[in-house]
Amino acid sequence: MFEKIERVPGDAILGLIEAYNQDANPQKVDLGVGVYRDPNGNTPIMRAVKQAEAHLLESETTKSYIGSHGDPRYGKAVLPLVLGSDSPVLAANRASATQSPGGTGALRLAADFIKSNLPGKRIWLSDPTWPNHLGIFDAAGIEMRKYPYVSADNRLDFDAMLATLKEIPQGDVVLLHACCHNPSGFDLDREQWQQVLEVVKSRGLLPLVDFAYQGFGEGLEADAYGVRLMAENLDEVLITSSCSKNFGLYRERTGCLIVIAKNAEQMQNVRSQMAIVARENYSNPPSHGAAVVTEILESAELARVWREELTEMCDRINGLRSDLVAALEPYGLDKRFAHVAAQRGMFSYTGLSTEQVKRLRDEFSIYMVGSGRANVAGFTSENLPYVAKAIAAVVD
Ligand code: PMP
Repeated sequence: MFEKIERVPGDAILGLIEAYNQDANPQKVDLGVGVYRDPNGNTPIMRAVKQAEAHLLESETTKSYIGSHGDPRYGKAVLPLVLGSDSPVLAANRASATQSPGGTGALRLAADFIKSNLPGKRIWLSDPTWPNHLGIFDAAGIEMRKYPYVSADNRLDFDAMLATLKEIPQGDVVLLHACCHNPSGFDLDREQWQQVLEVVKSRGLLPLVDFAYQGFGEGLEADAYGVRLMAENLDEVLITSSCSKNFGLYRERTGCLIVIAKNAEQMQNVRSQMAIVARENYSNPPSHGAAVVTEILESAELARVWREELTEMCDRINGLRSDLVAALEPYGLDKRFAHVAAQRGMFSYTGLSTEQVKRLRDEFSIYMVGSGRANVAGFTSENLPYVAKAIAAVVD
């Protein structure tokens, strides 16, 4: 039976990693894969995570199942982190968290929930978006549509975005990136969030806010602005939260789907459906990462250590953005690339063309995604002058 099965090309980013690993040039630079890197190019285990793990190793007493919603302590710890410790939504008992295998697992829960409980509803995704959004909603059998986000001249095209949102049929789902838009790095400002809220409200849309990078843009609280605006001003919101980046727990698969309903009663009804969706997918979520997050957030001292390191990481990324623009100044390219300093999160739509990206790779061993998306965390003070020189060589 398998003889008819065709081989599909591998993930483009994984291909990039392979090519990078095989490149013998000592000056090679990896700006491809979407993980945080420290100044030595490593993706470290965070200090608070190491401490929490040491404590868990000593104190853990069972490996029994944790249930389809995961550990209730994790939900209790993460809800205030996402919604704010003084959230009126939490006070009204309108929010529920279902632990999931990463943000990806949370998105799949949301997708399957929509498919089985909100039949016929479509999902609207930003153009461009994280490619796996397309894969996840397609796999769940949900019809997808796009709203414009980045213009041809590499700017946030907010007017076009808003115009399309205004046309979306009532009751459809609209996926919004909470912060650190992947792949572009262009985020909405507070005024723009307000305008999106008005449209979502007046059209009766269901926002699904993907919150994969809390703490990577401007800080834990500031990054939650759009999420909290939606949560506090709408009856119904879905939020997918990930601890992959902000706790550095990528491989531990840690995240949750948060549901906000009109009242506690409806929240419990929806929550009961989430348990079914989780059970049908994987029964119970993996425990370890969420246990680590819970240990950290429940301890004032560990939480302090964690916040401190996360702030260092966020500051490093934003510093590197400005450093690249400064390094391009001697080539007269600082204005042309000024947007890189204004973007937020790990990624930047540099505005480099596919051809220029190819030349950077072939002639300088600098690896980034064909769309011109660079992982800013791949820059270091050592490689920036080299990268700037290479960019100057390939742009016209
Ligand atoms: N949403 C977006 C926009 C992402 O970029 C990512 C990770 N690349 C995710 C969700 C999922 O992250 P994870 O499953 O690793 O938590």
